[in-house]
Amino acid sequence: MTITSSDVQEHAFEQRRTQPGALPEVEAFIAEVESRAAKGERIASLDPATGQLLVHVAETNAEEVDRTVRHAHDAFTGSWKRFSPFERERVLHRLADLMEQHATELAQYDALESGKPVGYVEAVDVALAVEQFRYYAGWPTKILGSVVPVASADHLVYTKKDPLGVVAAITPWNFPLCQAAIKIAPALAAGNAVVIKPSELTSLSTLRLAELAVEAGVPEGVVSVVTGRGETTGAALTSHPLVRGITFTGSDRVGRQLAAEAGAALKPISLELGGKNPNIIFPDADVQKAATAAAVTAFFYSGQVCFAGSRVLVHRDVRDDVLDVIHQYTDAIVVGPSLDSASTMGPLVSAQHRDKVNSYVEQARRGAASITRGGISSRDGGFFYDPTIVLDPTDAEAVTTDEIFGPVLIVQTFDDDDDLIARANASRYGLTAGLWTSDVTRVHSIADRLEVGRVWVNTYADWAANAPWGGSKQSGLGRDCGPDAVEKFLETKTVWVG
Ligand code: NAD
Repeated sequence: MTITSSDVQEHAFEQRRTQPGALPEVEAFIAEVESRAAKGERIASLDPATGQLLVHVAETNAEEVDRTVRHAHDAFTGSWKRFSPFERERVLHRLADLMEQHATELAQYDALESGKPVGYVEAVDVALAVEQFRYYAGWPTKILGSVVPVASADHLVYTKKDPLGVVAAITPWNFPLCQAAIKIAPALAAGNAVVIKPSELTSLSTLRLAELAVEAGVPEGVVSVVTGRGETTGAALTSHPLVRGITFTGSDRVGRQLAAEAGAALKPISLELGGKNPNIIFPDADVQKAATAAAVTAFFYSGQVCFAGSRVLVHRDVRDDVLDVIHQYTDAIVVGPSLDSASTMGPLVSAQHRDKVNSYVEQARRGAASITRGGISSRDGGFFYDPTIVLDPTDAEAVTTDEIFGPVLIVQTFDDDDDLIARANASRYGLTAGLWTSDVTRVHSIADRLEVGRVWVNTYADWAANAPWGGSKQSGLGRDCGPDAVEKFLETKTVWVG
């Protein structure tokens, strides 16, 4: 039986249930979070693979947010500011060690709440999250000021880089642990305290990460979590006067709103937003490799990935060959629950989200495109959606222009470089692009002309903590990862000694 949006309310109040295979420590932590939430307003978090209630988390109200931010501010001005750069380095490494020791446990929280296959979460998300702490552990001892040569020889003018203070981090549900690490690691390296609000759908791994931070030696209060909805808990956090900077990952809709509010309050903000990413295949590419990667990246984590290569633009000469490979790959995908090791693709995060994804596909079905695979899954329970291929929609259709955030791969053809660039750049987004060709001159020319924050050439979706990450146009402002992410959590103070 397929669970509909209207069934969800009922399921939310049934007995809590965890999938077979959950670790005892995961069960215990879920029970603890449930009991903490029992005291006040709370939100139901469902397992998208079953549609059943997984846990309730607290809905943190404005008064509690205020207390948390004040506590974070005290921890920042008190103990944390006294940590030397070497001590900050040590605790960040210790936290990375603890995350490695708890890798399977952390992976299970994200798998259970977001529906992603647990083996992939451990191999990809947890590993990337650990890498953030390892990389940024190297930064505290390398944050340098400068000496400014002014006119009077008997004056010493120097600059130093100060942390902002308390920063607010707001994260989405598709990479809960990884996004928490991407925000927290550079903020701590720069000496800030962080109050983080994870998505209301996926709070568990962030709550556990904050506990591990304390175990690693980060003073209590320096990393705090407020769980709850965006418009209530999130808004109370970002608008708090003691919050000196905001780092946000999520939709462009919310990003735009937060940017306006931060502008009015004169708070620095960085935004990592959505994408509709062209994956471009030329006839001189390794077609087998390019087409396989095109399918992998479109359907990885059910396409609920900001950098999913959701729009393949293939040269007309190799279109049929590319389609054959994509279809073969798609037919081999095993859709199933997140803790089942046989699953290669999980459900969508919620019934509402699945309905939204389906509405794009149904709209495309009524237009010029043909749907060669996919649609709502016939699998019992959960919010499953089969990997879907939409062939030849027009450039103007919503299925081509919008970020669908589901397992929906658009395939279109192009004829020459100018046609390709005009259509790829017509998007309001500018997050990533893939480029498959063996012509090095074309690599440089196309990479140069694409209006995106990252171009992958003859590869796709590679990531590293030290490689800057972020988008152009409506895909974001500022960069996560690499040196830029430390810089955005610092401000320059000039000291003039006469
Ligand atoms: P969302 O914008 O709905 O929510 C993101 C976060 O913002 C959540 O924690 C939410 O509770 C909070 N929020 C909502 N309204 C708020 C408000 N008024 N004040 C403060 N906080 C508020 O996004 P989502 O559905 O959780 O995530 C999916 C989106 O995230 C997609 O668009 C995806 O592309 C994007 N994303 C981008 C990146 C990137 O690196 N560029 C990475 C992951 C996800």
